Amino acid sequence: MAFIPSSKLPNTGTTIFSIMAKLCAEYNAINLAQGFPDIPVSNKLIELVTEYMRKGYNQYAPMHGVPALLEKLSDKYKKMYGYAPDPEKEITITCGATEACFTAITSVVHRGDEVIIFEPAFDCYANAVLLCGGVPVYIPMQYSAYSINWIEVREKITPRTKLIVINSPHNPTGTTLSVHDMHELETIVKGKEIFILSDEVYEHIVFDGQPHESVLKYPNLRQCSFFISSFGKTYHITGWRMGYCIAPPSLTYEFRKIHQFNTFSAHTPSQYALADVLDDSEMYLSLSTLLEEKRNFFTAALKKSRFVLYPSRGTYFQLASYEKISDEPDMQFAKRLVREYGVACIPVSPFYHNHLDQKIIRFCFAKHRDTLAQAAEVLCKI
Ligand code: GLN
Repeated sequence: MAFIPSSKLPNTGTTIFSIMAKLCAEYNAINLAQGFPDIPVSNKLIELVTEYMRKGYNQYAPMHGVPALLEKLSDKYKKMYGYAPDPEKEITITCGATEACFTAITSVVHRGDEVIIFEPAFDCYANAVLLCGGVPVYIPMQYSAYSINWIEVREKITPRTKLIVINSPHNPTGTTLSVHDMHELETIVKGKEIFILSDEVYEHIVFDGQPHESVLKYPNLRQCSFFISSFGKTYHITGWRMGYCIAPPSLTYEFRKIHQFNTFSAHTPSQYALADVLDDSEMYLSLSTLLEEKRNFFTAALKKSRFVLYPSRGTYFQLASYEKISDEPDMQFAKRLVREYGVACIPVSPFYHNHLDQKIIRFCFAKHRDTLAQAAEVLCKI
């Protein structure tokens, strides 16, 4: 008889991104669900990866990353946020930002440690905390602006607080943190042994001319933060699984101890190719304009629909309330949208530990105009 293992994550099922992707494929629906773009990948980047493979760069990369890539990233962040991280001691290339988040959490969270997570939240943070025996402390973002109530954060800090997870631009709400938010955070962590995981994978997708507030810009935050970003989101290559973490040497030291026994290193030819294209800052500096156009196009196309749209200030996500259409639970509504209308989205309740259902769904608008127009046409008829 086969034994059934006692689950380490008894209350966790399959991630909503897999569920909706599968359903979408089954019904051949328009995929505005899982967050990935259909924007073409740079030919140059593809040629470079191929070239490096042909040249024989097919074995393990150094555990923390290819030196050329680490150096280029250091230069990039010097230009972007005024801080040049030490390539040898502060940057680690990972298999996607998800590996970086998992590794960062695992490096600092001990049994019983508390981790502040703002909800709605991307699903990988809390599960990594739970695997470490840590305690997620959930703080809801304030409806409907999805802002952070810093008074509540202060109240939730205890001697066991070890980590605060922030994510700006924010998945799934599309909100961004302001200078004021960063100052509040600085005040809260000052003099305390509290670390920050700053998930900034959408750092290059910020709208309406606002600057992106990165922890790397703030010396008091940077000294206790894991900054995490993603080549996948920046170069439209989410399937290559390429991310990275920038953190001070003492944090990076612990981070690498775990990374080395998890994936050891990331894909070698991609690292060389990305190092080459990093010189071309237009490739990432043009992203905000490109995605802002898509946001504007999609929201304009939905104007006549019965969906109520929330402001999206960054990321490639648009939240929409379907309250005027139906009072079904969001999971049920999202699945029906696929089956009956052929459009896939992501319901928002899985981003809450208690599955808070506010009749809101998330659309990904990083898609071709025709796809967005086609989806909007259907959505306007509901
Ligand atoms: N970040 C992507 C999203 O929010 C999905 C990532 C994943 O599927 N793990 O849709």
